Amino acid sequence: MIKLDKVTKRYGETVAVRDLSLEVNDGEVCVLIGPSGCGKTTTLRMVNRLVEPTSGSISVNGKEVLATNPEQLRRSIGYAIQSVGLFPHMTVAANIATVPELLHWDKARVAERVTELLNLVSLKPAEYAGKYPAQLSGGEAQRIGVARALACNPRLIVCDEPISALDVSIQAQIINLLEDLQEQSRDLSYLFIAHDLSVVRHISNRVAVMYLGRIMEVCRSRVLYENPLHPYTRALLSAVPIADPVVEETRERIILKGEVPSPLNPPSGCSFHPRCFMAIPECAEAVPPLRDVGDDHYVACIRV
Ligand code: ADP
Repeated sequence: MIKLDKVTKRYGETVAVRDLSLEVNDGEVCVLIGPSGCGKTTTLRMVNRLVEPTSGSISVNGKEVLATNPEQLRRSIGYAIQSVGLFPHMTVAANIATVPELLHWDKARVAERVTELLNLVSLKPAEYAGKYPAQLSGGEAQRIGVARALACNPRLIVCDEPISALDVSIQAQIINLLEDLQEQSRDLSYLFIAHDLSVVRHISNRVAVMYLGRIMEVCRSRVLYENPLHPYTRALLSAVPIADPVVEETRERIILKGEVPSPLNPPSGCSFHPRCFMAIPECAEAVPPLRDVGDDHYVACIRV
């Protein structure tokens, strides 16, 4: 389980994440969505202790992240990043073996583990272990990235847009793979960033919608699709095409005015209010708290 409690991260004058609280339970898939620059990557990196929060606390499986040895922490978390980051001059097997967990193992044991991991991500070990990254397709490279993330037997996998760079059919394969892995290990949780809301619908149990460093709405993904409350979430969802042509015909599109403001100089009150189609003068006065509206659904808006 991951718990973030009132976490803030500043980079000089920029407040990348503000007062963010979020829980991801064992076996849960939590997705962060929101516009570029809203603090998604910073949030993942703080969980992994690649950056440290300025204030607030983060715990993973009951242990305070800041009080845990970073290497030990990363051993309990698998980190798969968008650009898989494979070393081009090393074979697939050698790339997987760079994981700290395997560094002190003898050769035979490493080879056995590499075989196991390639099987887990449905790549034939005999065919793939000796290949070089340039010989892999985008989807295959992504699978190797997932295999590497699994090498330390994590209970939590943190993925930074694991699929957005891939074409749609490969995205579907990777999503199926992540789902299969979760079925095999019921305790496995994911925290990941996604851009594509249709992907979110299939894979996540919980979605946190972020905007300028804050969570605007968080709830189970089914609830988000059936009953989005925050105006920003409604605008995001209104841009997603619906497979049913009759429903698609009547789909209400909400076009937001303007751009996301700079985090260096965020608007007063609710940071979304200058672009919001429901804003009233009070929205500029105070930051709306993330309010419990029942059914495990929280929303930061005084208009709903
Ligand atoms: P996202 O992943 O949602 O695109 P990020 O977490 O990468 O957002 O960034 C949030 C904000 O923090 C942005 O304004 C970004 O410019 C800033 N930021 C991120 N990393 C750094 C850094 N290392 N130094 C300074 N500012 C940063």
